[in-house]
Amino acid sequence: MTFKSLGLTDALLKAIEEKGYTTPSPIQEKAIPHILAGKDVLASAQTGTGKTAGFTLPVLQYLSETKHPKYRPVRALVLTPTRELAAQILENVREYSTHLDIKSTVVFGGVKASGQIATLRRGVDILVATPGRLLDLHSQKAVSFNRIDVLILDEADRMLDMGFARDLNKIMSYLPAKRQNLLFSATFSKEIKRLAEGILKNPVMVNA
Ligand code: AMP
Repeated sequence: MTFKSLGLTDALLKAIEEKGYTTPSPIQEKAIPHILAGKDVLASAQTGTGKTAGFTLPVLQYLSETKHPKYRPVRALVLTPTRELAAQILENVREYSTHLDIKSTVVFGGVKASGQIATLRRGVDILVATPGRLLDLHSQKAVSFNRIDVLILDEADRMLDMGFARDLNKIMSYLPAKRQNLLFSATFSKEIKRLAEGILKNPVMVNA
C-alpha cells in the first residue's frame, strides 16, 4: 500500500515524502479512504500509531479542494484534551500543509487570549483547540462555528477523563448539524460509546 493509492494528492504526497514516511501505517491505511469519502469514522487508536496524520492528511485534502477564494472561515475543528497535544497536532498540520494554501492555528488555555483572537481574525481554515478556551473565545465572538464542516475529536477518552463532557456537548450544540465527524479514542468505555452515539452518524469503525 502506498500513500498515493490511498487517494492523496501530489501536494500532500510531497509533504509526506519530505517527512520521510514511505508506507502508510495501519490506521492511515484503514481510515484515510473513508475520511476522503466523507464518512464519519470511529477509530480506536493509541498514540504512536500515526493517527494524527491519519485524520490530518485527508482533512487537509478536503479543505484545499473546497476552498473559497476570498473567505477563510474555520471549516475544520480539532478538539483535543491538553495544550501539549494541541500544539503537537498543529505542528503536524503545518508540516503536512507546507505545499497547500491552508491556514491553521491553535488555541488553548493558560495563555493570554489576545494573540489567539488576533490570529483567528486573520482567517483560519483549520483550528486545533482545547475545549474550555474554545468556548471562551466563542462566547467572546472571536470565533464562529457556522462554517465548520469537519469535526475531529482526538483522544476523546482523555477529554472525558479530564471532565470536558459538558464543554463538548456545548460545542456540539453550536456546530452546524450537517458535518463530517471523526472520533479517535484509545479506549471505549460506556461513556465514550454514549458520546460517540450522540455525535457520529453511521460511522465506519476502524481499528489500528
Ligand atoms: P501519532 O500516533 O500521530 O502521534 O504519530 C506517531 C509518530 O509517527 C509521529 O512522530 C509521526 O511523525 C510518525 N508517523 C506518522 N505516520 C507515519 C508513517 N506512515 N511512517 C512513519 N512514521 C509516521
